[in-house]
Amino acid sequence: MYTQQLIIKKRKFFKMVGRPSKKVQCEATTKRYGRQCRAKGILKKNGHYICRMHGGLSFGPVSIEGKIRALQNLRQYKNKTYEEIREYIQTNN
Ligand SMILES: [Zn+2]
Repeated sequence: MYTQQLIIKKRKFFKMVGRPSKKVQCEATTKRYGRQCRAKGILKKNGHYICRMHGGLSFGPVSIEGKIRALQNLRQYKNKTYEEIREYIQTNN
């Protein structure tokens, strides 16, 4: 009896460290309706909360080749060569 009451008391006052006590909504907007996504967000490195469906569990490109391929799709890097983009990544990280 006593231990059960203790556990109930502990549940009331104990919070998990490093986690928000309430659900933090995903910051992405839905494609279909243009409203904010309603799923639970996960904190990313840049400080935004993004759910698992909108890439919250993804780490992004990890290898240098993958980072170069990702940057080559952008307009500002389209005319630059493979080596130029590689130098840009290595100097900025
Ligand atoms: Zn979302």
